[in-house]
Amino acid sequence: MVRIIIVGGGVIGLGIGWKLSRLGYQVALYERNQVGRGASWAAAGMLSPLAEAHTQEAELLRLGLESSNRYPEWVRELQEESQIDIDYRRKGTLMVALDRDDRADLQHHFEMQKSFDLPVDWLTGNQARTLEPALSPRVVAAIHCPSDLQVNGRLMTTALTVAFQKAGGKLFEQTPVTKINIKDQQVTGIHIDSEFVPAELVIVAAGAWLSQVKGLPKSYQYLIRPVKGQILGLQMDTEPIISHVIYAPDAYLVPRSNGSLVVGATVEEQGFDTHLTAGGVFELLRGAWEALPGIYEFPIVDTFASLRPASRDNAPILGLTPVDGLILAAGHFRKGILLTPVTCDEIAQLVLTGIVSEVIKPFNISRFETLNLS
Ligand SMILES: Cc1cc2nc3c(=O)[nH]c(=O)nc-3n(C[C@H](O)[C@H](O)[C@H](O)COP(=O)(O)OP(=O)(O)OC[C@H]3O[C@@H](n4cnc5c(N)ncnc54)[C@H](O)[C@@H]3O)c2cc1C
Repeated sequence: MVRIIIVGGGVIGLGIGWKLSRLGYQVALYERNQVGRGASWAAAGMLSPLAEAHTQEAELLRLGLESSNRYPEWVRELQEESQIDIDYRRKGTLMVALDRDDRADLQHHFEMQKSFDLPVDWLTGNQARTLEPALSPRVVAAIHCPSDLQVNGRLMTTALTVAFQKAGGKLFEQTPVTKINIKDQQVTGIHIDSEFVPAELVIVAAGAWLSQVKGLPKSYQYLIRPVKGQILGLQMDTEPIISHVIYAPDAYLVPRSNGSLVVGATVEEQGFDTHLTAGGVFELLRGAWEALPGIYEFPIVDTFASLRPASRDNAPILGLTPVDGLILAAGHFRKGILLTPVTCDEIAQLVLTGIVSEVIKPFNISRFETLNLS
């Protein structure tokens, strides 16, 4: 039986571990801290391929839509196996404009969405307030993306941890992988300090910290960079103030079934720094309050910051590498929760069959070859 080691216990590493363990593989997952406390803990959990569509990212949009389509089955299986409700909601997204400039910007976004044939609707400010009465009177227009979804990323991480172990996966927390061993272009195992652990297959799902994993080809240091995100949790009154996810120009608001309201997120190039800052928190609250003035009295119940793993083209790096036995699953940037089902299913199928599916083919590391990175 092939021994598989996974480096990194975020949603991606845990999800791949769960899928492979269910297929009967012997999987050991090493996490340097506590599982799920990297980017996956910060995620707002929006599954918004429609709202976040971009013209220059057609392949990524396709991957996001594919993953979104797989979500109902993913949630059903995960909740059944873990017995944890991950707060899967199908309420859609409202992207709102607060002035003429925003409206022009939003109009442009709407035309792009339509050019991809996405099921979205243009609303006036009043129509938007009919859907969400607490929106500011300043809202002049909105795009309704009714099929966007959401989950609670923290609950999903917890559920994946339970499901992975129930399926027979071995979890090692507080255990940093200090080096990946590669000999003659072939993976032989990993090092935990001076201890060598042999493996036929190593899957690196180390998120924004991929560049710090020792032993990988030198050029992999430049594949992924950390992009900081600060995020807040407010506590709504007894009645939820909104039911849709709201995308305002300077912040988004994500209501949860437990009454919390997530406000996110900054996007900062600050290296590996994860401090919360007064400016970051201020800007998020200002951006959220402009769209939804009713948040003013809500208590702040949570703050967190982490690092999104960003590749040069904002798309994940998935699949085989020129090193035998080395698979990468990293670089999910702002869409890692959305892309978890498709990533984990397809990497597990790759291990099982040895065949790279058409779905993940465009995301292989070889696309960076012209930059001499593989
Ligand atoms: C503020 C914020 C909001 C976001 N909102 C959304 C959203 O709404 N929707 C969405 O789809 N995505 C969102 N994202 C993006 C999403 O969170 C990430 O894309 C996703 O969590 C990446 O998962 P991962 O498992 O690759 O990384 P991580 O969750 O960061 O996991 C990587 C793990 O690897 C471990 N590790 C690193 N090096 C080693 C080593 N040497 N040995 C052992 N372990 C190691 C780390 O400790 C970490 O736990 C958001 C991100 C942020 C920061």
